[in-house]
Amino acid sequence: MQVTREIFDQVMVPNYAPSKVIPVRGEGSRVWDQQDNEYIDFAGGIAVTCLGHCHPALVKALQEQSEKIWHLSNVMTNEPALRLAKKLTDATFADQVYYANSGAEANEAALKLARRWALDNHGEQKSQIISFNKGFHGRTFFTVTVGGQAAYSDGFGPKPGDIVHAEYNNLDSLRELISDKTCAVMMEPLQGEGGIIPPTKEFAEGVRELCDQHNALLIFDEVQTGVGRTGHLYAYMGLGVTPDILTTAKALGGGFPIGAMLTTKAVGDHLKVGTHGSTYGGNPLACAVAEAAFDTVNQAEVLEGVKARYQRYVDGLHAINEKYSVFSEVRGQGLLLGCALNEQYKGRARDFLMASMEENLMVLVAGADVVRFAPSLVITEQDIDEGLQRFERAVAKVVAG
Ligand SMILES: *Cc1c(COP(=O)(O)O)cnc(C)c1O
Repeated sequence: MQVTREIFDQVMVPNYAPSKVIPVRGEGSRVWDQQDNEYIDFAGGIAVTCLGHCHPALVKALQEQSEKIWHLSNVMTNEPALRLAKKLTDATFADQVYYANSGAEANEAALKLARRWALDNHGEQKSQIISFNKGFHGRTFFTVTVGGQAAYSDGFGPKPGDIVHAEYNNLDSLRELISDKTCAVMMEPLQGEGGIIPPTKEFAEGVRELCDQHNALLIFDEVQTGVGRTGHLYAYMGLGVTPDILTTAKALGGGFPIGAMLTTKAVGDHLKVGTHGSTYGGNPLACAVAEAAFDTVNQAEVLEGVKARYQRYVDGLHAINEKYSVFSEVRGQGLLLGCALNEQYKGRARDFLMASMEENLMVLVAGADVVRFAPSLVITEQDIDEGLQRFERAVAKVVAG
């Protein structure tokens, strides 16, 4: 069967509008489409393929596990799931792990756990969840309502209740809302979809303090920032602010679907037998690949390498901006970078994405005003340099009109 992009419009629900290009294979940070055109990948499947495409360690883990056992369900546990959980808890503040299959599911578990913890410890009146405008936490109805863009949660009938939103990087706005009725505050320790917005250190520390004052749990959504993305294993480590619950997905499986919620024993113990679950959560294939990804990323040279690559990107992007004056700011951390467009180009991030694709470069946007890069954490210097040359040609095209 000849597969074409037109088939998408015939047989797929129209909630996405994918590119005309259909990639068929990838290696490292290079991808080839059906016509064998080659692309450089600065998008990483939206911060997922943290080791590029078909990394040998991940291919090996998947192949080996595929000949052992694929699936059991949670009626039984399995070796890869327990090995990975041991490594995640050894490397972080957490004592316990819950496995899911996506970021939204990990967040759903975190929010349900927070509600249950509050009910058990403080009673029914402590159910308020506070999150932040522009925050993104996934597309289940609970997580999308906690997210800070009403446009994503409107139009589906009555929403889950007792959820309010404060301003990110504005401690006063949180102070006005938080009370002893607050059960949890959920935030990204660097807003991704919202426009690559890092928190100030004072803000992050202040959020932690306010949570402590009001006996509220702090949930860090590290679905996008986790697994080395910021140059730290998890972004909270760089911030020096420790949450009570942390969620991780995207890069966790390096391209194989898996999510996880990490927490302390004191909190996690409230998710008692039967309170929550997932058929696929902790699937052996997913956990085997995630273990290989974790082992590869959680090494000093890889994490240091992220910081070096950050500098190479930022220098290159500043040089482009000196010639073309399109960005008001290049921001972000590690290999989660945002080029904020200046007044003249505001609202046109998609144009830069389309122009990049024409130059055989895959990039992302974060809202209408920010061009986002989230490449492989081990992308080569040559691929960065060549990709930036392609990006410069794309910028020149947009500027020329
Ligand atoms: C992508 C993302 C999610 C949602 O993850 P899915 O796997 O798409 O469900 C949640 N939170 C953050 C911060 C994200 O970037």
